[in-house]
Amino acid sequence: MTVATTCPYCGVGCGVLARANADGSVHVEGDPQHQANHGRLCVKGSALGETVDLHGRLLHPMLRSPDGTLQSAGWDEALDRVAAGFQRVIERHGPDAVAFYVSGQLLTEDYYVVNKLAKGYLGTANIDTNSRLCMSSAVAGHKRAFGEDVVPGCYEDLELAELIVLVGSNTAWCHPIVYQRIAKAKEGSRPPRLVVIDPRHTATCESADLHLPVKPGTDVWLFNGLMAFLFQHGAMDARFVEAHTAGFAQALAAAQADAGDPAEVARICGVQLADLLNFYRWFARCERTVTLFSQGVNQSSSGTDKVNSIINCHLLTGRIGKPGMGPFSLTGQPNAMGGREVGGLANMLAAHLELENPAHRQLVQSFWQSPRMAERQGLKAVDLFEAVAAGRIKALWIMATNPVVSLPDADRVKQALARCEWVVSSDIVAQTDTNAFAHVLLPALGWGEKNGTVTNSERRISRQRAFLPAPGEARADWRIVCDVAQRLGFAQGFQFEDVHEVFAEHARLTACCNHESHPDTRRLLNLEALAKLDRHAYDRLQPVQWPVAIDAKGEARLFADGRFSHADGRARFIATAARLPLNAADREYPLVLNTGRVRDQWHTMTRTGKAPRLSGHSPEPFVDMHPHDALRCGVREGELARVQSRWGAMVARVKHGGGVLAGNVFVPIHWNDQFASDARVGGVVNPVVDPVSGEPEFKHTPVRVEPF
Ligand code: SF4
Repeated sequence: MTVATTCPYCGVGCGVLARANADGSVHVEGDPQHQANHGRLCVKGSALGETVDLHGRLLHPMLRSPDGTLQSAGWDEALDRVAAGFQRVIERHGPDAVAFYVSGQLLTEDYYVVNKLAKGYLGTANIDTNSRLCMSSAVAGHKRAFGEDVVPGCYEDLELAELIVLVGSNTAWCHPIVYQRIAKAKEGSRPPRLVVIDPRHTATCESADLHLPVKPGTDVWLFNGLMAFLFQHGAMDARFVEAHTAGFAQALAAAQADAGDPAEVARICGVQLADLLNFYRWFARCERTVTLFSQGVNQSSSGTDKVNSIINCHLLTGRIGKPGMGPFSLTGQPNAMGGREVGGLANMLAAHLELENPAHRQLVQSFWQSPRMAERQGLKAVDLFEAVAAGRIKALWIMATNPVVSLPDADRVKQALARCEWVVSSDIVAQTDTNAFAHVLLPALGWGEKNGTVTNSERRISRQRAFLPAPGEARADWRIVCDVAQRLGFAQGFQFEDVHEVFAEHARLTACCNHESHPDTRRLLNLEALAKLDRHAYDRLQPVQWPVAIDAKGEARLFADGRFSHADGRARFIATAARLPLNAADREYPLVLNTGRVRDQWHTMTRTGKAPRLSGHSPEPFVDMHPHDALRCGVREGELARVQSRWGAMVARVKHGGGVLAGNVFVPIHWNDQFASDARVGGVVNPVVDPVSGEPEFKHTPVRVEPF
């Protein structure tokens, strides 16, 4: 039987038709009915059927023996041990001595249940997610500007725009179907102009009318300069700014102070003045402008300010919430958005409510009827692992992620886990760099086996549907959490029989709390229609963009009426003072390391690494660098080299041709010790974070490269 499901990789959220064949193979094709992709799939999505075999899978609960070996155990014994470990630590050290580190790979229902357990029942907000690493600066920027973490537009805007600006995004490789939509629009009768702002000359630049190869970390200068230019050249929508915003004067003053002179901006950003002015003029003239931004903006010690400097330009011109225009955050993971909706970050509460707002806490606690509620923000990812290293967090449950590979200063993460009293890992894979430190391994269901929902970059909720049997003893993540919660004494609150019941509770909570917390607004975070879904209706749920109104229709665009989610209904300009990355290159570490994805791999390759055809494009870890820098460093293309920072080192093969500026190097994030020794770039990356969002600065670590 063919089922309609959703791709588990990037935030584009493509619809997939999948079928398990009698011979054991799996057939996948793009779902022509899904609005995100209209039947298209990229190379990763097309190879999904080759990644679902059981080789290397974790199929049974495993307990670590005193001699360090792992022994298989029954579910009851494993769950008892997990609960007892958490109980022991809470009794001795309090609830903030335990933590959860979860993942944008989880389904919304998984996210909901684990947040409920941590915040409402254990009473700790020490639950953060690997989404912190990819889009938390966008979350913080949205909340500052709009009063709420929402993407105002939709993919259809790409086909309606006159100008598309891509900032810090190799869209062609990292969000390929979005890029294909842009490329198709460029072949149409009214092609949009495309501007790419990126230090690297990536594949995305091939369709660009203009590429601005900005120096890493200078984006705020660029967009402050744009704001000053737009104001000076009469492109401001004064009526919109007057009626619907606040904070304009301060933001403009900051922009003019930093970036009032385009020649100076061009010098700081390292781009040609003529190119900069072309971009500014195009932006000024094109009413229908969409600015898409991704990790090159977010993964920065000034990531939140970068986001707000972009949004400021859209507020100044009133280009938001209308067809073909608006700022647009491209989320990295399949369900980073869904996790945000249920409060999947240490500083959030379910239903987009504020953890530190007593009224919001009261709303959620009374809905949950829970015994307690976390009262202050928990630790964000980097700080959370630092607390583990310092011994303040003594029990940690990691779900569907591999922090020993993916976090910055990853060797420190290794040390932290090695000294942690109680480490639990729920995973689909048996052997990972992180699982090596777990005391208990719990086998989870993977894509094709589990049921639930995900939300993509345009707020579209889609179903992931199972079409394969559960392998071995694997269970759904939400069910594992409920099983542990019940053993911790929380029978009430975790008696879900089926995943649709979890979704319905999440929808009811969202509908209820948003009516109460926004009584005087028309903000429609209304999921009442979805809250009434029974199992049959949930099984048949079609992709829909939230907010979902009573008539079960989603909203393509938000803020069209100029009414935002701050209490006074106005959007906020944010004064963004430009600043350079914290750690600068110097004589000892003269190059700047930038990390990112390659075209055909996903995260730590536990799935894409199984498909031989996906390994042909980039078969091994590499360090891409300018030939002049290679000469200076004494390394040659094709040879191995050591990439060394103050935090750690890794080894990769030298490569040229990736469009890297002199003075910079690029290393992909995917490889780890399961695939090649000393290949974890996370061990090299500095643990600097944005002060507002806590997102790490993956795009700027001073390094040196030397012969291996
Ligand atoms: Fe999957 Fe993203 Fe490719 Fe779509 S673009 S098929 S969601 S990896």
